Amino acid sequence: MTPPRRFFVETWGCQMNELDSQRMAGQLMQQGILPTHDAGEADIILLNSCSVREKAEQKVYSRLGEYRLLKKHRQDLLIGLCGCVAQQEGERALDRVPDLDFVLGPARVGELQQVVARRRAGERVVATGFPVERRYDLDAVSRHGEYKGMVTVIEGCNKNCTFCIVPQTRGPEQSRPMAEILREVRHLLDYGFREIELLGQTVNHWREPGGGMDFADLLDRVARLSGVERLRFVTSYPRDFTPRMVEQVGLHANICPYLHLPVQSGSDAVLRRMGRGYTRDEYVALAAGLRRARPDLALSTDLIVGFPGETEEDFARTLELVREVGFSAVYAFKYSPRPGTAALRLGDNVDDQVASERLQRLFSLQDGIQRRINESLVGQEFEVIVTGWGKQPGAQTGRTPCHRVVHFDTGREAVALGSLTRVKVEKAFPHSLVGRRLEVAAVTN
Ligand code: SAM
Repeated sequence: MTPPRRFFVETWGCQMNELDSQRMAGQLMQQGILPTHDAGEADIILLNSCSVREKAEQKVYSRLGEYRLLKKHRQDLLIGLCGCVAQQEGERALDRVPDLDFVLGPARVGELQQVVARRRAGERVVATGFPVERRYDLDAVSRHGEYKGMVTVIEGCNKNCTFCIVPQTRGPEQSRPMAEILREVRHLLDYGFREIELLGQTVNHWREPGGGMDFADLLDRVARLSGVERLRFVTSYPRDFTPRMVEQVGLHANICPYLHLPVQSGSDAVLRRMGRGYTRDEYVALAAGLRRARPDLALSTDLIVGFPGETEEDFARTLELVREVGFSAVYAFKYSPRPGTAALRLGDNVDDQVASERLQRLFSLQDGIQRRINESLVGQEFEVIVTGWGKQPGAQTGRTPCHRVVHFDTGREAVALGSLTRVKVEKAFPHSLVGRRLEVAAVTN
């Protein structure tokens, strides 16, 4: 008997890429091709790439260089470049990497089976661009081992942030109809998922195609579905948050008290040059409004440091904002020039060493803030969704509703992944909590 065929997927970047990888895995599994964690035994290797920063792009190319060596002993091994670098590079990637078999952009993920078949028939395929009709088979998504079910509600991005390559790599905005979204959420609930995460580059810009409903209506409808115990959505764009959406966050207990709301900078001058379309004060007011609606809300953000023209004063405004808002997490990176973006024409670049030093100052400020916020949670009890195993026997990890990582002792019995249990926090670190499971009150599957 011939051994089953295997595939290996490596994923970089955002949740949308994670979901795209699950969709690619699902399509291959439908054809009887099984997953493997060892690229060395794979018949198909997929690199699902991110091109938001230059480093991520370089990494995927260096990985392609490593994987193509495997072809020396495996003539029939297929290697595919997928994701945002695939869209960005297209044909160029085939020229640059002679052993690359196909290039598959994010909007063409649903065509993987056909692309592989074409390659097996001899064609080196480039499947990029943004077709209006996209293949999406709900049953061909491998959600194995996942505790949250991700559902894309809006694809692409129409914002013109001057630093960002996403509108080029993921194309123009396209909202999915409400009925389709609800059908997918119900499908996930039928499979036993308790946590639903709605995805979009600007998720709160969702609109019913051809209709009047907006993201507030979508939140309301999804939150009301029975079986949705936790509802999250990512990534929200500050300017698109309306009072009705804020109201929904306060109204539904199953909407998690956690929101990722990228601010990018605390300086109005920098925000203007980034083309973000809001001011620092507007952002702070929105954060305050959200907290009034939901006092236990944890807010996280993205920040770019060293954007062209960022002065020491601008950066001081960012530090001030970070102090003022009190984020539960900050994802900060040095500005990385991206091809085809408007920021390339701004000039006035910040010296790399200056940017690195600012980034370090930001991290050390945020570490202290996170430590203090997390310490204030010691003694509190949380309902935790169990997401993994700890390093020691008897230790597991999970997430609080406010999305904090908790390590806990399981007590007498381990808890099934994806189920809910109660944990009392005993210790706090900047990036995690440590606690004890309250067995009596445990909720099991
Ligand atoms: N659509 C979201 C928004 O703009 O609010 C996030 C999109 S992007 C995938 C995630 C994060 O990457 C951004 O919030 C930004 O902080 C960061 N990012 C994007 N382009 C960047 C660049 N050229 N250099 C450094 N960081 C960048």
